[in-house]
Amino acid sequence: MTHLLELKGVTQKYGRGDRRFTAVDNVSLTIDEGEFVALLGPSGCGKSTLLRIITGLNQPAEGQVLYRGQPLRGVNPYATIVFQTFALFPWLTVQQNVEVALKARGVPPNLRTVRAIDLLDMVGLDGFETAFPRELSGGMRQKVGFARAMAVEPELLCLDEAFSALDVLSAESLRGELLELWQSGSIPTKAILMVTHNIEEAVFMADRVIVMDKQPGRVIADQKIDLPHPRQRKSPRFLEVLDRVYATLAGQTQPEYVELGTAPGEAGVTRALPDVSIGELSGLLEFLNEMPANRTDVYRLEQELNLSTDAVLELTEAAELLGFATIAKGDIALTPLGETFAEASILARKEIFATRIRRLPLFKWLLAMLKAADKGRLDRDVIRLALELEFSPEDAARQVEIAIQWGRYAELLAYDDNTETLYQETGAAVAA
Ligand code: ADP
Repeated sequence: MTHLLELKGVTQKYGRGDRRFTAVDNVSLTIDEGEFVALLGPSGCGKSTLLRIITGLNQPAEGQVLYRGQPLRGVNPYATIVFQTFALFPWLTVQQNVEVALKARGVPPNLRTVRAIDLLDMVGLDGFETAFPRELSGGMRQKVGFARAMAVEPELLCLDEAFSALDVLSAESLRGELLELWQSGSIPTKAILMVTHNIEEAVFMADRVIVMDKQPGRVIADQKIDLPHPRQRKSPRFLEVLDRVYATLAGQTQPEYVELGTAPGEAGVTRALPDVSIGELSGLLEFLNEMPANRTDVYRLEQELNLSTDAVLELTEAAELLGFATIAKGDIALTPLGETFAEASILARKEIFATRIRRLPLFKWLLAMLKAADKGRLDRDVIRLALELEFSPEDAARQVEIAIQWGRYAELLAYDDNTETLYQETGAAVAA
Protein backbone atom coordinates (compact mmCIF):
# COMPACT_ATOMS: atom_id res chain seq x y z
CA MET A 1 0.00 0.00 0.00
CA THR A 2 1.25 3.49 -0.75
CA HIS A 3 1.48 5.62 2.35
CA LEU A 4 -0.08 9.05 2.35
CA LEU A 5 3.14 10.42 3.78
CA GLU A 6 6.50 8.83 4.25
CA LEU A 7 9.66 10.28 5.77
CA LYS A 8 12.84 8.35 5.10
CA GLY A 9 15.89 9.18 7.18
CA VAL A 10 15.04 12.86 7.41
CA THR A 11 17.79 14.96 8.98
CA GLN A 12 17.77 18.72 9.40
CA LYS A 13 20.70 20.89 10.38
CA TYR A 14 20.81 24.57 11.28
CA GLY A 15 23.60 27.10 11.65
CA ARG A 16 26.92 27.42 9.90
CA GLY A 17 30.51 26.37 10.54
CA ASP A 18 31.23 25.62 14.21
CA ARG A 19 27.65 26.47 15.12
CA ARG A 20 26.16 23.87 12.83
CA PHE A 21 24.01 21.41 14.75
CA THR A 22 21.57 18.64 14.03
CA ALA A 23 18.03 19.70 14.91
CA VAL A 24 16.35 16.55 13.61
CA ASP A 25 18.25 13.32 13.25
CA ASN A 26 17.35 10.50 10.91
CA VAL A 27 13.57 10.48 11.34
CA SER A 28 11.64 7.83 9.46
CA LEU A 29 7.89 7.52 9.78
CA THR A 30 4.76 6.95 7.76
CA ILE A 31 1.23 8.28 7.99
CA ASP A 32 -1.61 6.47 6.30
CA GLU A 33 -5.06 7.53 5.21
CA GLY A 34 -7.52 7.52 8.07
CA GLU A 35 -4.90 8.16 10.76
CA PHE A 36 -4.95 10.88 13.39
CA VAL A 37 -1.38 11.09 14.65
CA ALA A 38 -0.10 13.19 17.55
CA LEU A 39 3.51 14.29 17.77
CA LEU A 40 4.69 14.86 21.35
CA GLY A 41 7.96 15.98 22.86
CA PRO A 42 9.70 18.77 24.77
CA SER A 43 10.42 22.17 23.21
CA GLY A 44 13.28 22.11 20.76
CA CYS A 45 12.96 18.44 19.81
CA GLY A 46 12.23 19.45 16.24
CA LYS A 47 8.44 19.16 15.98
CA SER A 48 8.00 22.42 14.08
CA THR A 49 11.01 21.64 11.92
CA LEU A 50 9.38 18.35 10.92
CA LEU A 51 6.07 20.07 10.17
CA ARG A 52 7.83 22.56 7.91
CA ILE A 53 9.55 19.71 6.11
CA ILE A 54 6.35 17.70 5.76
CA THR A 55 4.44 20.64 4.32
CA GLY A 56 7.35 21.41 2.02
CA LEU A 57 8.09 24.84 3.48
CA ASN A 58 11.68 23.66 4.10
CA GLN A 59 13.86 21.03 2.49
CA PRO A 60 15.64 18.52 4.74
CA ALA A 61 19.45 18.45 4.73
CA GLU A 62 19.29 14.70 4.20
CA GLY A 63 16.61 12.10 3.59
CA GLN A 64 13.43 11.99 1.60
CA VAL A 65 9.81 13.05 1.93
CA LEU A 66 7.33 11.07 -0.13
CA TYR A 67 3.72 12.10 -0.57
CA ARG A 68 1.54 9.34 -2.02
CA GLY A 69 4.76 7.63 -3.01
CA GLN A 70 6.12 10.62 -4.94
CA PRO A 71 9.10 12.71 -3.77
CA LEU A 72 7.85 16.05 -2.48
CA ARG A 73 9.13 19.06 -4.43
CA GLY A 74 8.37 22.51 -3.11
CA VAL A 75 5.32 23.32 -1.03
CA ASN A 76 2.94 20.40 -0.53
CA PRO A 77 -0.36 21.55 -2.07
CA TYR A 78 -2.27 18.82 -0.22
CA ALA A 79 -1.19 19.82 3.26
CA THR A 80 -1.98 22.80 5.43
CA ILE A 81 -0.97 23.93 8.92
CA VAL A 82 -3.21 25.42 11.60
CA PHE A 83 -1.02 27.46 13.95
CA GLN A 84 -1.38 28.41 17.59
CA THR A 85 -2.76 31.79 16.69
CA PHE A 86 -4.11 32.80 13.38
CA ALA A 87 -3.14 35.93 11.56
CA LEU A 88 -6.50 37.11 10.29
CA PHE A 89 -6.78 40.26 8.20
CA PRO A 90 -8.21 42.77 10.68
CA TRP A 91 -9.82 44.92 7.96
CA LEU A 92 -11.77 42.02 6.46
CA THR A 93 -14.89 40.43 7.89
CA VAL A 94 -14.92 36.82 9.06
CA GLN A 95 -16.46 35.73 5.78
CA GLN A 96 -14.02 37.74 3.67
CA ASN A 97 -11.13 36.22 5.61
CA VAL A 98 -12.30 32.79 4.49
CA GLU A 99 -13.02 33.96 0.94
CA VAL A 100 -9.41 35.10 0.61
CA ALA A 101 -8.27 31.52 1.12
CA LEU A 102 -10.80 30.27 -1.44
CA LYS A 103 -9.61 32.87 -3.92
CA ALA A 104 -6.00 31.77 -3.41
CA ARG A 105 -7.16 28.27 -4.16
CA GLY A 106 -8.70 29.37 -7.47
CA VAL A 107 -12.36 29.00 -6.50
CA PRO A 108 -14.39 31.22 -8.90
CA PRO A 109 -15.94 34.37 -7.36
CA ASN A 110 -19.55 33.24 -7.69
CA LEU A 111 -18.88 30.11 -5.61
CA ARG A 112 -16.76 31.71 -2.92
CA THR A 113 -19.55 33.25 -0.86
CA VAL A 114 -21.62 30.08 -0.63
CA ARG A 115 -18.57 28.01 0.18
CA ALA A 116 -17.33 30.47 2.84
CA ILE A 117 -20.73 30.47 4.52
CA ASP A 118 -20.72 26.66 4.48
CA LEU A 119 -17.27 26.50 6.05
CA LEU A 120 -18.19 28.98 8.78
CA ASP A 121 -21.32 27.03 9.48
CA MET A 122 -19.24 23.87 9.78
CA VAL A 123 -17.04 25.31 12.54
CA GLY A 124 -20.05 26.73 14.36
CA LEU A 125 -19.69 30.38 13.37
CA ASP A 126 -22.95 30.99 11.53
CA GLY A 127 -24.29 34.41 12.40
CA PHE A 128 -20.79 35.86 12.64
CA GLU A 129 -20.08 36.19 8.91
CA THR A 130 -20.08 39.98 8.93
CA ALA A 131 -18.20 40.41 12.21
CA PHE A 132 -14.64 41.71 12.21
CA PRO A 133 -11.85 39.72 13.92
CA ARG A 134 -11.60 42.29 16.75
CA GLU A 135 -15.20 41.51 17.74
CA LEU A 136 -14.43 37.84 18.29
CA SER A 137 -13.07 35.95 21.28
CA GLY A 138 -9.79 34.05 20.93
CA GLY A 139 -11.67 30.79 20.54
CA MET A 140 -13.83 32.17 17.74
CA ARG A 141 -10.85 33.64 15.93
CA GLN A 142 -9.21 30.23 16.03
CA LYS A 143 -12.41 28.80 14.52
CA VAL A 144 -12.07 31.24 11.63
CA GLY A 145 -8.53 29.93 11.31
CA PHE A 146 -9.85 26.38 11.07
CA ALA A 147 -12.45 27.42 8.50
CA ARG A 148 -9.69 29.03 6.46
CA ALA A 149 -7.52 25.93 6.71
CA MET A 150 -10.48 23.79 5.64
CA ALA A 151 -11.09 26.07 2.65
CA VAL A 152 -7.95 24.59 1.16
CA GLU A 153 -9.55 21.12 1.53
CA PRO A 154 -6.28 19.69 2.79
CA GLU A 155 -5.72 15.96 2.57
CA LEU A 156 -3.20 16.25 5.36
CA LEU A 157 -4.23 18.63 8.10
CA CYS A 158 -1.35 19.64 10.38
CA LEU A 159 -2.06 21.27 13.71
CA ASP A 160 0.79 23.09 15.43
CA GLU A 161 -0.25 23.59 19.07
CA ALA A 162 -3.59 24.70 17.61
CA PHE A 163 -5.47 24.65 20.92
CA SER A 164 -2.75 25.84 23.29
CA ALA A 165 -3.44 29.57 23.17
CA LEU A 166 -7.12 29.14 23.98
CA ASP A 167 -8.87 29.19 27.33
CA VAL A 168 -9.87 25.79 28.69
CA LEU A 169 -13.50 25.90 27.54
CA SER A 170 -12.87 27.17 24.02
CA ALA A 171 -10.10 24.64 23.55
CA GLU A 172 -12.36 21.83 24.64
CA SER A 173 -15.23 22.84 22.39
CA LEU A 174 -12.95 23.27 19.39
CA ARG A 175 -11.37 19.86 19.99
CA GLY A 176 -14.83 18.33 20.10
CA GLU A 177 -15.87 20.06 16.90
CA LEU A 178 -12.77 18.96 15.03
CA LEU A 179 -13.19 15.36 16.17
CA GLU A 180 -16.79 15.39 15.04
CA LEU A 181 -15.91 16.77 11.60
CA TRP A 182 -13.13 14.24 11.24
CA GLN A 183 -15.08 11.23 12.39
CA SER A 184 -18.24 12.03 10.47
CA GLY A 185 -16.20 12.23 7.27
CA SER A 186 -17.75 15.59 6.41
CA ILE A 187 -14.35 17.06 5.55
CA PRO A 188 -12.13 15.81 2.73
CA THR A 189 -9.16 15.46 5.11
CA LYS A 190 -7.49 12.07 4.88
CA ALA A 191 -5.12 12.31 7.84
CA ILE A 192 -4.36 14.64 10.72
CA LEU A 193 -0.95 15.30 12.25
CA MET A 194 -1.17 17.20 15.51
CA VAL A 195 1.87 18.67 17.24
CA THR A 196 1.17 19.23 20.91
CA HIS A 197 2.72 19.66 24.31
CA ASN A 198 -0.38 18.41 25.95
CA ILE A 199 -0.15 14.68 26.63
CA GLU A 200 -3.77 14.33 27.63
CA GLU A 201 -4.92 16.12 24.48
CA ALA A 202 -2.90 13.65 22.40
CA VAL A 203 -4.45 10.62 24.11
CA PHE A 204 -7.90 12.17 23.93
CA MET A 205 -7.81 12.82 20.20
CA ALA A 206 -5.25 10.73 18.35
CA ASP A 207 -5.09 7.11 17.18
CA ARG A 208 -1.32 7.08 17.40
CA VAL A 209 1.22 8.99 19.42
CA ILE A 210 4.77 9.59 18.23
CA VAL A 211 7.13 10.71 20.99
CA MET A 212 10.28 12.71 20.24
CA ASP A 213 13.25 13.67 22.38
CA LYS A 214 15.84 16.35 21.79
CA GLN A 215 19.57 16.82 21.34
CA PRO A 216 19.34 15.67 18.70
CA GLY A 217 15.63 15.68 17.82
CA ARG A 218 14.59 12.10 17.12
CA VAL A 219 11.68 9.71 17.44
CA ILE A 220 11.85 7.57 20.59
CA ALA A 221 8.45 5.87 20.52
CA ASP A 222 5.44 5.27 18.31
CA GLN A 223 2.35 3.91 20.10
CA LYS A 224 -1.17 3.10 19.00
CA ILE A 225 -4.00 4.57 21.08
CA ASP A 226 -6.52 1.83 21.00
CA LEU A 227 -9.54 3.50 22.56
CA PRO A 228 -12.98 3.96 21.01
CA HIS A 229 -14.47 7.45 20.60
CA PRO A 230 -15.95 9.35 22.32
CA ARG A 231 -13.22 8.95 24.92
CA GLN A 232 -13.93 9.36 28.60
CA ARG A 233 -11.06 11.14 30.30
CA LYS A 234 -11.81 9.66 33.69
CA SER A 235 -12.31 6.08 32.59
CA PRO A 236 -9.83 3.50 33.88
CA ARG A 237 -8.93 2.48 30.29
CA PHE A 238 -8.18 6.05 29.32
CA LEU A 239 -6.03 6.55 32.41
CA GLU A 240 -4.20 3.32 31.70
CA VAL A 241 -3.28 4.43 28.18
CA LEU A 242 -2.37 7.89 29.48
CA ASP A 243 -0.07 6.23 32.04
CA ARG A 244 1.60 4.27 29.29
CA VAL A 245 2.36 7.36 27.26
CA TYR A 246 3.70 9.07 30.38
CA ALA A 247 5.88 6.06 31.12
CA THR A 248 7.31 6.30 27.60
CA LEU A 249 8.11 9.95 28.08
CA ALA A 250 9.68 9.08 31.42
CA GLY A 251 11.73 6.33 29.82
CA GLN A 252 10.38 3.82 32.34
CA THR A 253 10.73 0.22 31.34
CA GLN A 254 10.73 -1.53 34.72
CA PRO A 255 7.64 -3.43 35.82
CA GLU A 256 5.67 -1.23 38.22
CA TYR A 257 6.07 -3.39 41.33
CA VAL A 258 9.85 -3.26 40.96
CA GLU A 259 9.88 0.45 40.38
CA LEU A 260 7.21 1.54 42.83
CA GLY A 261 7.01 -1.05 45.63
CA THR A 262 3.70 -2.34 46.96
CA ALA A 263 0.74 -0.77 48.70
CA PRO A 264 0.33 -0.73 52.49
CA GLY A 265 -1.05 -4.03 53.75
CA GLU A 266 0.33 -6.03 50.83
CA ALA A 267 3.30 -8.35 51.04
CA GLY A 268 6.52 -6.54 50.19
CA VAL A 269 7.97 -3.17 50.99
CA THR A 270 5.75 -0.11 51.02
CA ARG A 271 7.73 2.65 49.46
CA ALA A 272 7.49 5.88 51.40
CA LEU A 273 6.64 9.10 49.60
CA PRO A 274 9.84 11.15 49.46
CA ASP A 275 9.71 14.10 51.81
CA VAL A 276 9.70 16.97 49.32
CA SER A 277 7.46 19.90 48.57
CA ILE A 278 6.03 20.64 45.15
CA GLY A 279 7.94 23.93 45.16
CA GLU A 280 11.29 22.17 45.65
CA LEU A 281 10.51 19.60 43.01
CA SER A 282 9.46 22.26 40.47
CA GLY A 283 12.61 24.21 41.34
CA LEU A 284 14.81 21.20 40.64
CA LEU A 285 13.15 20.47 37.29
CA GLU A 286 13.31 24.11 36.20
CA PHE A 287 16.97 24.25 37.18
CA LEU A 288 17.82 21.12 35.19
CA ASN A 289 15.87 22.44 32.22
CA GLU A 290 18.24 25.42 32.12
CA MET A 291 21.39 23.27 32.15
CA PRO A 292 23.21 22.21 28.97
CA ALA A 293 21.75 18.89 27.78
CA ASN A 294 19.36 19.12 30.76
CA ARG A 295 21.76 17.34 33.08
CA THR A 296 24.21 18.04 35.89
CA ASP A 297 26.26 16.34 38.61
CA VAL A 298 24.13 15.41 41.60
CA TYR A 299 26.73 16.83 44.00
CA ARG A 300 26.31 20.30 42.47
CA LEU A 301 22.66 20.48 43.45
CA GLU A 302 23.34 21.17 47.13
CA GLN A 303 25.07 24.39 46.31
CA GLU A 304 22.96 25.38 43.35
CA LEU A 305 19.63 24.84 45.09
CA ASN A 306 20.93 25.71 48.55
CA LEU A 307 19.79 22.44 50.13
CA SER A 308 21.22 19.92 52.58
CA THR A 309 22.59 16.60 51.38
CA ASP A 310 19.57 14.78 52.80
CA ALA A 311 17.17 17.15 51.10
CA VAL A 312 18.94 16.65 47.76
CA LEU A 313 18.71 12.89 48.16
CA GLU A 314 14.98 13.02 48.84
CA LEU A 315 14.47 15.40 45.97
CA THR A 316 16.36 13.36 43.40
CA GLU A 317 14.58 10.24 44.59
CA ALA A 318 11.22 11.96 44.10
CA ALA A 319 12.19 13.14 40.62
CA GLU A 320 13.23 9.63 39.68
CA LEU A 321 10.20 7.94 41.28
CA LEU A 322 7.86 10.19 39.32
CA GLY A 323 9.76 9.65 36.08
CA PHE A 324 10.93 13.27 35.78
CA ALA A 325 14.64 12.47 35.90
CA THR A 326 17.10 9.62 35.70
CA ILE A 327 20.19 9.24 37.85
CA ALA A 328 23.26 7.40 36.65
CA LYS A 329 26.96 7.64 37.45
CA GLY A 330 26.50 10.65 39.70
CA ASP A 331 24.60 12.61 37.05
CA ILE A 332 20.98 13.60 37.12
CA ALA A 333 19.25 14.18 33.77
CA LEU A 334 15.73 15.24 32.90
CA THR A 335 13.53 12.78 31.03
CA PRO A 336 11.32 14.17 28.24
CA LEU A 337 8.51 14.05 30.79
CA GLY A 338 10.56 16.15 33.23
CA GLU A 339 11.21 18.67 30.48
CA THR A 340 7.55 18.72 29.60
CA PHE A 341 6.71 19.44 33.25
CA ALA A 342 9.31 22.21 33.50
CA GLU A 343 7.87 23.91 30.43
CA ALA A 344 4.19 23.35 31.22
CA SER A 345 1.60 25.83 32.45
CA ILE A 346 0.36 25.65 36.05
CA LEU A 347 -2.69 23.61 35.04
CA ALA A 348 -0.77 21.23 32.82
CA ARG A 349 1.76 20.68 35.62
CA LYS A 350 -1.02 19.65 37.98
CA GLU A 351 -2.33 17.27 35.37
CA ILE A 352 1.09 15.67 34.83
CA PHE A 353 1.70 15.42 38.57
CA ALA A 354 -1.73 13.89 39.20
CA THR A 355 -1.22 11.25 36.54
CA ARG A 356 2.13 10.33 38.01
CA ILE A 357 1.17 10.10 41.68
CA ARG A 358 -2.06 8.23 41.00
CA ARG A 359 0.07 5.21 40.15
CA LEU A 360 2.12 5.22 43.36
CA PRO A 361 0.90 2.31 45.49
CA LEU A 362 0.59 4.42 48.61
CA PHE A 363 -1.61 6.89 46.75
CA LYS A 364 -3.67 4.22 45.07
CA TRP A 365 -4.28 2.70 48.47
CA LEU A 366 -5.25 6.06 49.95
CA LEU A 367 -7.65 6.90 47.10
CA ALA A 368 -9.23 3.44 47.31
CA MET A 369 -9.71 3.88 51.07
CA LEU A 370 -11.40 7.24 50.51
CA LYS A 371 -13.61 5.80 47.82
CA ALA A 372 -14.73 3.02 50.14
CA ALA A 373 -15.21 5.31 53.14
CA ASP A 374 -18.53 6.63 54.34
CA LYS A 375 -19.31 9.80 52.29
CA GLY A 376 -15.80 9.55 50.83
CA ARG A 377 -14.29 11.09 53.99
CA LEU A 378 -11.69 9.77 56.38
CA ASP A 379 -10.11 11.11 59.54
CA ARG A 380 -6.50 11.93 59.17
CA ASP A 381 -5.83 9.78 62.24
CA VAL A 382 -7.38 6.71 60.67
CA ILE A 383 -4.93 6.93 57.82
CA ARG A 384 -2.04 7.64 60.14
CA LEU A 385 -2.82 4.60 62.29
CA ALA A 386 -3.13 2.37 59.24
CA LEU A 387 0.26 3.57 58.08
CA GLU A 388 1.79 2.89 61.49
CA LEU A 389 1.58 -0.79 60.64
CA GLU A 390 4.29 -0.10 58.04
CA PHE A 391 6.15 2.95 59.32
CA SER A 392 7.33 4.38 62.62
CA PRO A 393 4.77 6.72 64.26
CA GLU A 394 6.71 9.83 63.19
CA ASP A 395 7.20 8.58 59.67
CA ALA A 396 3.53 7.61 59.40
CA ALA A 397 2.47 11.09 60.48
CA ARG A 398 4.90 12.64 58.00
CA GLN A 399 3.62 10.39 55.20
CA VAL A 400 0.09 11.65 55.81
CA GLU A 401 1.36 15.25 55.62
CA ILE A 402 3.12 14.63 52.33
CA ALA A 403 0.14 12.76 50.87
CA ILE A 404 -2.14 15.69 51.75
CA GLN A 405 0.22 18.22 50.26
CA TRP A 406 0.76 16.28 47.02
CA GLY A 407 -2.86 15.20 46.70
CA ARG A 408 -4.14 18.76 47.16
CA TYR A 409 -1.75 20.12 44.57
CA ALA A 410 -2.79 17.40 42.11
CA GLU A 411 -6.44 18.07 42.98
CA LEU A 412 -6.96 14.37 43.67
CA LEU A 413 -8.02 14.93 47.24
CA ALA A 414 -9.02 17.70 49.59
CA TYR A 415 -8.35 18.22 53.27
CA ASP A 416 -10.41 20.04 55.83
CA ASP A 417 -8.11 21.45 58.47
CA ASN A 418 -10.88 22.11 61.01
CA THR A 419 -12.23 18.59 61.13
CA GLU A 420 -8.91 16.99 60.14
CA THR A 421 -10.57 14.91 57.47
CA LEU A 422 -9.47 13.95 54.00
CA TYR A 423 -11.97 13.58 51.22
CA GLN A 424 -12.06 12.87 47.55
CA GLU A 425 -11.92 15.88 45.29
CA THR A 426 -15.20 15.93 43.35
CA GLY A 427 -14.66 14.82 39.80
CA ALA A 428 -11.35 13.23 40.67
CA ALA A 429 -10.87 9.88 39.05
CA VAL A 430 -10.09 6.95 41.26
CA ALA A 431 -8.51 4.32 39.10
CA ALA A 432 -8.37 1.70 41.78
P1 ADP B 1 10.05 22.26 18.57
O1 ADP B 1 9.01 22.65 17.57
O2 ADP B 1 9.97 20.83 18.99
O3 ADP B 1 10.09 23.19 19.76
P2 ADP B 1 11.92 23.24 16.60
O4 ADP B 1 11.72 22.44 15.37
O5 ADP B 1 11.31 24.60 16.65
O6 ADP B 1 11.48 22.38 17.85
O7 ADP B 1 13.48 23.41 16.85
C1 ADP B 1 14.43 22.34 16.92
C2 ADP B 1 15.82 22.94 17.19
O8 ADP B 1 16.25 23.66 16.05
C3 ADP B 1 15.87 23.91 18.35
O9 ADP B 1 17.11 23.78 18.98
C4 ADP B 1 15.74 25.26 17.67
O10 ADP B 1 16.36 26.26 18.44
C5 ADP B 1 16.47 25.02 16.37
N1 ADP B 1 15.95 25.82 15.24
C6 ADP B 1 14.68 25.79 14.75
N2 ADP B 1 14.55 26.60 13.69
C7 ADP B 1 15.78 27.15 13.47
C8 ADP B 1 16.33 28.06 12.51
N3 ADP B 1 15.56 28.56 11.52
N4 ADP B 1 17.62 28.40 12.63
C9 ADP B 1 18.40 27.88 13.60
N5 ADP B 1 17.97 27.03 14.53
C10 ADP B 1 16.68 26.65 14.48
